[in-house]
Order: sequence, then structure tokens, then C-alpha cells
Amino acid sequence: MDAPENHGDNVQAFCEFAQLLGCPETFGGHEVERWRAHILSHLGEQWPQDSGCSFCSKRRFDSDKYGGRARAAFHERSEHVWLHITRDGKVVEDLQPDYRLFKFMRDRGFIPERTLQGTFQYAVSLPNPDRPGELMAPPQLQSIYGDDEVVPYSSPGSQSAWRRY
Ligand SMILES: [Zn+2]
Ligand SMILES: [Zn+2]
Repeated sequence: MDAPENHGDNVQAFCEFAQLLGCPETFGGHEVERWRAHILSHLGEQWPQDSGCSFCSKRRFDSDKYGGRARAAFHERSEHVWLHITRDGKVVEDLQPDYRLFKFMRDRGFIPERTLQGTFQYAVSLPNPDRPGELMAPPQLQSIYGDDEVVPYSSPGSQSAWRRY
């Protein structure tokens, strides 16, 4: 076993938008800065005011909680996401929609509306925890972006292809 500090040597990281955009870019386990710059390039070199995580529903990176500094919020987000990939061993199939970030991308024309809408199919395919035997209703933009928590996710890897368009 590698020592924890060496775990990055054998890790190959990937772009967070591998599913959404089909981006094939890969990175070494120590290339966090190149990875971060690459992610930002997908966002037109702009820091989103509000985003979640591409792997878990535990964190929200709202710049209001970082003194209004979108750069600080996004920096912390990228540290968090990077550790999912390099420390937790998440793979492309584990990617989940970060609707807050996707909305930011839609609002600026980086993804078309139908791509955003297509990612909603991910939620529709999940079991509804409140209604046994039923599936989740399609996400409503209002509820996604109005609540403190992002939509509930299924277990990791259970949805390997939520990008429909
Ligand atoms: Zn990419
Ligand atoms: Zn996370």
C-alpha cells in the first residue's frame, strides 16, 4: 500500500464535465492546479456565485458564506471535489449533476437549456423515498435553487449515464 501522501502518484483524475460535456481530459494525481484551471475554462474563467458538489449532496459552496467572494467559494469547492477523485477514488460513473453549477453554465450560454433539462432525467429515475414504488418527480428549478440542500442522490455509481442530450 502506498503511504497516504503518495496516493496521488498512481491516481488519474478526470474532468468534472466528463459526462455533461463528454470532456476526455485527464490529469495526474498531483495536477490539482492544472485541473482547477481546466474546470474554470469550462466556466468561461468565471467563478460561480453558488454551486454544489459533483459527487455528493453534502456540500454547498455559496459565496454568501464566503464573504461574497465567489473565488473563495469556488476554490474550496474545487479542493472538495478534487479529494473525491484523488482520495475517495471516485470515477466518471460516480458523477452526479451539480444543478447549481449547471444553472450557472446555462445562464451564461455554456450549455444549452436542453442539456440542463436532460440532466433532470437523472432525478426522475431515482426511487422516491416518500412514496414507495414511485419514482422522483422531475426537479423544479424553483425547488432546486430555492432550498438549502440540493436534490437527494442515489448511491454512488447507480446512474452511470444521466446525460441524455
Ligand atoms: Zn473538461
Ligand atoms: Zn462532495
